[in-house]
Amino acid sequence: MSTHPPRAESGDPILPGAAVGVLGSGQLGRMFAIAARQMGYRVHTLSPDTDTPTGQVADVEVTAPYEDLDAVRKFARDVRVVTFEFENVPAATAAAAAELSPVRPAGAVLHTTQNRLREKTFLSKHGFPVTPFKPVRTADDLDGAVRELGLPGVLKTAAFGYDGKGQRKLASPADVAAARAALGGAEWVYEAFVDFEREVSVVAARGLGGGFAHWGVIANDHRNHILDLSITPAGVGPRVEREAVDVARGILEQLGVVGVLCVEFFLTKPGRLLVNELAPRPHNSGHLTIDASVTSQFEQQLRAVCGLPLGSTEIRRPAAMAQLLGDLWAGGEPDWPAALALPDVKLHLYGKAEPRRGRKMGHLTALADTAEEATRLALAARAALGRGRA
Ligand code: AMP
Repeated sequence: MSTHPPRAESGDPILPGAAVGVLGSGQLGRMFAIAARQMGYRVHTLSPDTDTPTGQVADVEVTAPYEDLDAVRKFARDVRVVTFEFENVPAATAAAAAELSPVRPAGAVLHTTQNRLREKTFLSKHGFPVTPFKPVRTADDLDGAVRELGLPGVLKTAAFGYDGKGQRKLASPADVAAARAALGGAEWVYEAFVDFEREVSVVAARGLGGGFAHWGVIANDHRNHILDLSITPAGVGPRVEREAVDVARGILEQLGVVGVLCVEFFLTKPGRLLVNELAPRPHNSGHLTIDASVTSQFEQQLRAVCGLPLGSTEIRRPAAMAQLLGDLWAGGEPDWPAALALPDVKLHLYGKAEPRRGRKMGHLTALADTAEEATRLALAARAALGRGRA
């Protein structure tokens, strides 16, 4: 038991100069820390790793497993508020932190969103449009789910999946037979395969007093299940724009989020929106807000968790974000000056030493007068990285 009484949740703002804590230490925490330091806050980060993307720019980097609850309590005691950039921290970690500091968004939000089955059940129970799904634990469940939802479909692990990890597409009875053998007693979700027109997302924020802000609909292209390109404005038309934002607002309110949450959608060919998944934190598709918007998703997370008014989410210029994966390093160091020769292109690198294949190393954001031009420019800048090197 802690000897320190829990600090009451209060509506008083946490002002610049205070320390904010981030559970997790990847690029999302890094960009959050940059925004927080810009506004005069101190940043502490906790994760099992050292010399991390977040730790490199934080004031304090604590290295401890998430299961080391004493370390988590000490971490929480040293800061005024705890947020996270990695949503798969164990529930017990968030609970231990909450004994000593407000945790925003609350551990209950993490609990719902870190398991696909809980998340989808929450969404359908509250009437949000969601990809048709069935829970699967046994081979019989899988057969039943395939009978009901048909083929093709996607079988996903309920827990700890991201970027397509722990998921397989089932297109034939042979795929189903192979999947039956691979269930292994885990909890899965079988989803109908959605023949989507586009993937889109809404990144939104909710303040401590219930204020709501969003950056509109962002269009996303994935490659090998990893986000490759994000574009704003998405050009989906006013009805889809309104519906997507309404769904996002409803979800943030229903979950009682204080902070930033991203809703990823499939937009079907007949123009229907289906929620694919939620991320209770800033999101890869919102990285373009750093350069394109008055307030970035990271500054907004800071404002929200510190109980400050939310900033303007006006998009100043159309923008496109191109992901930089470790694969780009296969032929040697990317040609940075070649991309930076394009004056409306901004480079963000995450401070990761080892450029492994598929690892997110950074991104480029291109700004232009139209979304199409921004997309062309982002792709040209990324292509330029691979040219002209030894
Ligand atoms: P997820 O990990 O659920 O975000 O899935 C990663 C990517 O796989 C998505 O962004 C889609 O491109 C694709 N995907 C996942 N589920 C489905 C589905 N039910 N139908 C079609 N594509 C899917």
